[in-house]
Amino acid sequence: MKLSLVVPCYNEEQNIAPLFEKIQGEFQNKIDSYELVFVNDGSTDGTLNALKQLCDSTDIPVKIVNFSRNFGKEAAIFAGLKNASGDLISLIDADLQQDPAYVVKMVQYLDENSDCDCVAAFQEKRHESAFRTFCKKRFYHIINKMSDTEFVDGASDFRTFRSTMKDAILEMSEYHRFSKGIFSWVGFNTYYMPYDADERLSGTSKWSFKKLCQYAIDGIVAFTTVPLKISTSIGFLTSLASLIYIIIVIIEKLAFGIAVPGYATIVVLILFLGGLQLLALGINGEYLSRTYIQSKHRPIYIAREVISNKDDKNDTK
Ligand code: UDP
Ligand code: MG
Repeated sequence: MKLSLVVPCYNEEQNIAPLFEKIQGEFQNKIDSYELVFVNDGSTDGTLNALKQLCDSTDIPVKIVNFSRNFGKEAAIFAGLKNASGDLISLIDADLQQDPAYVVKMVQYLDENSDCDCVAAFQEKRHESAFRTFCKKRFYHIINKMSDTEFVDGASDFRTFRSTMKDAILEMSEYHRFSKGIFSWVGFNTYYMPYDADERLSGTSKWSFKKLCQYAIDGIVAFTTVPLKISTSIGFLTSLASLIYIIIVIIEKLAFGIAVPGYATIVVLILFLGGLQLLALGINGEYLSRTYIQSKHRPIYIAREVISNKDDKNDTK
């Protein structure tokens, strides 16, 4: 069985050569047929040159999908899958946080268990601040409550799966991609393999806290419409409360002659209801903006070129 290793790369100049060495070392005598599909996601450093050098210097089939700009990791994974021709596909980061030795274990597991379609690495311990871990745990708790799709806390993109699953993923052509949800949504039998992530070899993580929050919102909007229902329910409840309050005000006026209940009450109500309205509009806007962008049918990525060191007539751009 042939394995395609898909590696999204964004400013990973220093990591390409060590990653390749590590892959070669781990795969020797264990995985006989494999290709490497690197996606250069608009890197601004020497990543492309490092990839080209690697491509020219080895007999192992290497493909480089070179993006016209930075489209993000999700788009890079999509492009990598599109250009992967193996019976098995592995996704791995370029920064050596994920040890290729686990890929060998994943492939062995799939070889031995024909009813299993996907082996996903599952991180039990996280090497990050307690605050980030707390936020991630809350996020998984909330999204699992809201969505029918199951989101496994700690499961990463680091996984190996069969080409049938790849085809299913490629059929999902949504622009805002949230792979953690996509992997669950397509189904298939998945085994979660515990692993321990290493430190990044060189460079810095591209995930700031703000980007993570945006990613979390993307995930929720992509896989559940519950926030829309919550805003409808809140609207319904506040309308009901206002109706009751209107009746109270009318009775106060007619029975006791109290016309203006007070400045404070009015200001509090205006601010509270104004805030609720903006919140509901914002939630609607999140869904609408994604519908708008999806309706333009823009491509998920644009490749400037696809470079390969093997003659491959089936090059897919
Ligand atoms: N990456 C990418 N495009 C981006 C950001 C990241 O292709 O816009 C790649 C990056 O080169 C790496 C992988 O995605 O191979 C994971 O990125 P990173 O290490 O920054 O994420 P973390 O490990 O902190 O979750
Ligand atoms: Mg990383």
